[in-house]
This record gives sequence, C-alpha cells and structure tokens, in this order.
Amino acid sequence: MKQETMCIQAGYEPKNGESRMIPIVQSTTFKYDTSEDMGKLFDLEASGYFYTRLQNPTNDYVANKICALEGGSAAMLTSSGQAANFYAIFNIANCGDHVIASSTIYGGTYNLFNVTMKKMGIEFTFLDPDCSVEELEAAFKPNTKAVFGETIANPALIVFDIETWANVAHKHGVPLIVDNTFATPINCQPIKWGCDIVTHSTTKYMDGHDATVGGAIVDAGKFDWMAYADKFPGLTTPDDSYHGITYAKKFGLGGAFITKCTAQLMRDFGSIQAPMNAYLLNLGLESLHVRMPRHCENAQKVAEFLEAHDLVAWVNYAGLPSNKYYERAKKYMPNGTCGVVSFGVKGGRAAAEKFMANLKVAMIATHVADAHTCVLHPASSTHRQMSDEELIAGGVGPDLIRLSVGIEAVEDIIADVAQALEACR
Ligand code: PLP
Repeated sequence: MKQETMCIQAGYEPKNGESRMIPIVQSTTFKYDTSEDMGKLFDLEASGYFYTRLQNPTNDYVANKICALEGGSAAMLTSSGQAANFYAIFNIANCGDHVIASSTIYGGTYNLFNVTMKKMGIEFTFLDPDCSVEELEAAFKPNTKAVFGETIANPALIVFDIETWANVAHKHGVPLIVDNTFATPINCQPIKWGCDIVTHSTTKYMDGHDATVGGAIVDAGKFDWMAYADKFPGLTTPDDSYHGITYAKKFGLGGAFITKCTAQLMRDFGSIQAPMNAYLLNLGLESLHVRMPRHCENAQKVAEFLEAHDLVAWVNYAGLPSNKYYERAKKYMPNGTCGVVSFGVKGGRAAAEKFMANLKVAMIATHVADAHTCVLHPASSTHRQMSDEELIAGGVGPDLIRLSVGIEAVEDIIADVAQALEACR
C-alpha cells in the first residue's frame, strides 16, 4: 500500500459484518473463560488483552497504522509525546547509563532528560546536532545506551542528519532514536535512513486538530540486541517480573523492544492513551497525507512573503533556498518539511509584542503543528522570565516569533501577517 492508502486503511481490517470504523473499546478489563486462559496472557504465551493500563485493542489498531506509515515492525501508543520519549529511553537505559542527545531538542524533552531522568541516575550528553563526526564519536562512553535527535527541532527548526548519526550510533553498538513529530512519516521516514526507534508527539500533526494529547513509539525491528547482549540486559536476560522471559529471544528483532516496553514500562507506569483519544487520533491520521502537503505549501508561501518584507529581520524555514538546512531538507524531506516557520520582526521584543497584539487570524497559543494557524512569542510568554541576553544565549532571541502555519486559505494568513507587520511600522 502507498502511504495515502495506509493513512486511511492500515492497522484495522474489519471482518464480515464488523464496523467500518475502528471500534472504541471503552473497557478497562477483558473477560476469560478460565483462569488458565488468562494465565497464558500473563505469561506472554498467548496474545490478547487483560487490562487497559497495558494495552487496548483501539490503541493497537492506531499504533499499527502508525507502524505501517513509519515502516516499522511494532508500535505502541502512549498518553503523550513526553511519555513516548521517556519510555523509548528508559526501555534500554537504566540508572548508571549514559545517552547522547542533540542539544536542540524540544525544551520539554530536554527538561525530561536533563532534570527528571538525571535524577533517575541516567546521564545525558547534549551535542550540537551539526557537530562533526569526530565530536560525536568522542562523546561515546562504555555505558552509552542510545543516541537521540529530532528530525526537525522544535523550535530551532534544525534538520537532523539522521543517516550520519545512525551510522555513528551503530558503529558504537547502540540504537538511534528519532522524534519525528514535526516531519511526520508523510514527509520523512527516519527508519529508511538507519534510525532504530521512532517517537512521536501525536498531539501535533498526527491528531492535527488540537483535540488529543498523545504519543507513539515505533520500533524498526532492525537493531540486534543480542549482538550487544551485555549492553542491553533488560532485553537479553530473563525478566523476573515476567516469569523469566528473555524478550530478545522470545520476540526476536521485530517484537522485543515494544513487547518489553508494554509488558514492563506500561504495566508499571501506566501512561496509556485513552481508547477514545486513540479513536480521535485515528481520524486525524486519515487525513494526514492530505494535510501535510497543504501545511508545507502554505508555510512556504508565508516564509517567502516574510523573507521579502522590509520589516522582517530574518526568517528560518528549511524550504527557503537561503536556509542553512535547505540541501539537507531536500535529502531527507524532498516533499517538504513542516508548517512551522520562525522569524524576527525588526525592532526586537517591543515590535514582536506589537505584531502579536495585532494578529486576527493567527491565534496566540503555546501549541504548534495543527490545522489552525497559531503563533507564539516566547520572550513575552513561555520564556518571559528570561532577560534578552539569556534568550539570545538559549537560541530564542527576544524578537523570535514562531508561526505554525495552518491549512486555512494562505491568502488570509498572509493578509493577517501583513497587516500585523504594518502596525509595527
Ligand atoms: N516532541 C516534540 C518535538 C514536541 O514538539 C513535543 C511537544 O511540543 C513533545 C515531544 C512532547 O509532546 P506532548 O506535548 O504530546 O507530551
């Protein structure tokens, strides 16, 4: 199937007389004829469901669709993108381990890694995603268990060199995990470039309508855990909490990672996506292949308009030939990157605040990456406690405006931006 067909049909095949849409299995629990039947599930000897804290059929239909879109071997949904990134790392890195991550990842993920997971005893080294191969190589330690980056960094919009980072990670016997939230599998499939685990905040384009918070993890099924058995004991030695199952042996390359993540982490932490949310996410996925090209087309026109405007100091969008990442984006995302553009208004913080106050179509919101055009001025909102100097050091200057271009008529978006810019003159 082509991706356009997968968006509509993958993950769920109704049998004769069954519902055309995925059923919402709004049940915490599942009934069995005998205790023995249930026991087989607990031993992971039979497939099926016993409790929605771990798994639910609605979620699995949707996870299977995302898995097909990414070209993976197995997938699971989580309650949020934060949960997806936490699980993806914590499934293979424990207290005393080390992980290498791109320094420009989403602030929430950075915080999760650098503060919360650090408290759990996992050490992170953050590297400039444009560092040299030598610098990347030098960051590896004997206890390094994974490498992490974002296809398109939020909000820096840096395009990650997936193939290079994957090659280096593999040379050191660890998997590459890529958060593919902004590109979505419509614009980039990191697995094709060597990535081993893909994560998503499905809250963004996948849902696409500001309706549900969610996350997903997809395993490429290519990383050979047994080849590095000493590094990944959680996958390669018996799990006492599951009657001595060794995930890599029992579920092989294609199933070990997601089975362990579900059976252990979802069981113990329970960050499951509600079946109703999974159903709504599926509605979003059914139009992802139609929405993404429109987001990119609109964002390209808005970026070109901004670049030509005399009141705009700079524009950051990888679809512009002047952009540092234009060529790299063409390699990884030949059909377009995403709908998010950032730019600076001449006149710094004050001008940016005036611009924001005059917008009528673009809505002020912390959110990005959905059907509605929305806009954020970090210096006067999310980052308002920081001085201009601190903002510049953090790569989010006082003039920076993040515009998430939606799928409305682009003429209306541009007219809105134009009149708000004129108000700053
Ligand atoms: N990853 C990226 C790239 C994001 O932009 C976000 C949220 O903005 C997240 C992860 C976290 O996702 P969620 O808000 O669904 O927890």
